[in-house]
Amino acid sequence: MDLDEIKVVYTCALCEVIVDEIMDHPCIEGYGDIYIDNNHYFYPVLDDGKTIIRRSQLDDHMEGVVEDELETNENICPNKKFSH
Ligand SMILES: [Zn+2]
Repeated sequence: MDLDEIKVVYTCALCEVIVDEIMDHPCIEGYGDIYIDNNHYFYPVLDDGKTIIRRSQLDDHMEGVVEDELETNENICPNKKFSH
């Protein structure tokens, strides 16, 4: 196995689609920043720079999208495609 062949891919935290180019992904369209966690999941970041959108298990088997405040913002990256 050649280590050079290992490619980092990312998973959208909202729709669970695996991508290798986050900036082209529609779920982050319109957001100024994105957050990437240690498992290579990425999340849109709200304008306050510390709140992410993520999918969460709700009652029974329902899933919903919730807002969640970050404790650290060190993994936030500018969304180059849409930032001004
Ligand atoms: Zn998505």
